[in-house]
Amino acid sequence: MGFPAMSPSRSRFDTDRQTFWIGGAWRDPAAGPDGPRSAVLDPAGRGVVGRVPQGDAADVSAAVDAARAAFPAWAAAGVADRRALLTAIAAGITSRETDFARLISAEMGAPVDNALATQTRLAAEVFTSYAEILDGHVWEERIGTSQVVQEPVGVVAAITPWNYPLYLIAAKVAAALAAGCTVVLKPSGDAPLNAFLLAEVVAEASAEVGAPPGVFNLVSGSGGTVGAALVSAPGVDAVSFTGSTEAGRAVAAAAAGTVKSVGLELGGKSARVILADEPDGPEVTGLDEAVRLALADVFYNTGQTCTSCSRVLVPDALYDEVVRLAEREARNWRLGDPALPGNHIGPVATAAQFDSVLAHIDRGTAEGARLVTGGRATPGDVPRELADGHWVLPTVFADVTGDMAIARAEIFGPVVCLMRYRDEEDAVRIANDSIYGLAGAVWCADRARAERFARRIRTGLVTVNDGEFNVRAPTGGYKQSGIGRELGAHGLHHFLETKTIQW
Ligand code: NAD
Repeated sequence: MGFPAMSPSRSRFDTDRQTFWIGGAWRDPAAGPDGPRSAVLDPAGRGVVGRVPQGDAADVSAAVDAARAAFPAWAAAGVADRRALLTAIAAGITSRETDFARLISAEMGAPVDNALATQTRLAAEVFTSYAEILDGHVWEERIGTSQVVQEPVGVVAAITPWNYPLYLIAAKVAAALAAGCTVVLKPSGDAPLNAFLLAEVVAEASAEVGAPPGVFNLVSGSGGTVGAALVSAPGVDAVSFTGSTEAGRAVAAAAAGTVKSVGLELGGKSARVILADEPDGPEVTGLDEAVRLALADVFYNTGQTCTSCSRVLVPDALYDEVVRLAEREARNWRLGDPALPGNHIGPVATAAQFDSVLAHIDRGTAEGARLVTGGRATPGDVPRELADGHWVLPTVFADVTGDMAIARAEIFGPVVCLMRYRDEEDAVRIANDSIYGLAGAVWCADRARAERFARRIRTGLVTVNDGEFNVRAPTGGYKQSGIGRELGAHGLHHFLETKTIQW
């Protein structure tokens, strides 16, 4: 199997997966080579792009045993060995970056340019960043008569979603391997193919540097079966989960049975606040650019970015102008074939997500928000051969108030909610009026004021003006957006235990 209607270069990787990567070998699932498999669907409407085995509890057990067997040797490996593996994985991803990008694009619908830049290259950079972090990490310290030592926590279960599939896997696997842990990965059932390609890369890298077999293991399958079995497995010491807040609650509850350490990176409903140049004054320097960035942040990756600021808070006096600018700017965004390069928007990644985004748009209209532009795509909006895809137009709602469901729920689609505020106190209140606390953004000509405002937003990440994402700094959620931090040196903590030796 391959990609029937795609260019020959698309078949440079196997999309018809029969086996799991367990204990340093490709193994048949416990159910045998003819056991159940699930289809991976192209969200742009081209049908099946691949198949992966559906694992069960016996596969989880085999993978956990393999990870346990590899743990003593990997925990004892020196920093140089760990750095060598991380560097070799980064190089392996880079050498196959076009394959990764095409694969990710086909299975979750990100346009290939996005899939290359922010999905694949960012993943390689995360592995490189952990190789570098190992150089400076302080593993031991003396406190009075005690020696305080950091040790790897053990076997890690990594469970990941589909929206930035490879990059989010990298954030867990790179940090866990750097800490000296061994890993069992369960990728999203909707976009698992990139994880199988990553297993090939890890296999080559492990052989090159002599890492023990079982350092990294891969089992695909549903959250309810493979995910749940991993979370409750006695042989797993820590769980690192990225996904919805709803699933995160179930994971935390299940992990409590064996008192596992749980890292959760969950949903968000973040706010971007456009501040006037003077406190509550009449002007905003660079308002066009502020609106352009606000929309780009939500439309990029078809709104399926956990940190996107989908509530845009605008001073009362400038509200009508911002609505006008947003309408004009939204019309610059086009839907398009994700297999083609360009800045267009791809489809929503799954059928369930598509239904959910459209239901939110209907609900917003029913609640009294004003649909400025967007909504369900019509046949003329996309090429005819992609008509079966999950297409949602770049959408802007105005007159959104804090009590509306569209202002409170994570829509996870290309839907911007424009909200008014009276003064800065009101803006702080609205920004923080959420069960979530993942991210936020501030636009303000006065950087000092912007920073003061950023400090009042109760979230784990705040972007000021056109600030850039930095994979060497931590991210994570306040409130119901999660527990713990990923990325950078802070991202190591979840994978380490601390021991005090005193005498
Ligand atoms: P999801 O919660 O449906 O699934 C995530 C993963 O968890 C999948 O691998 C799934 O199979 C597994 N899973 C589901 N139920 C499980 C259970 N009971 N036990 C164990 N595993 C289970 O999320 P999704 O739809 O794949 O991804 C979108 C969500 O992820 C959004 O809410 C988004 O905000 C969130 N997300 C958060 C971050 C972050 O860093 N905070 C990053 C990306 C995505």
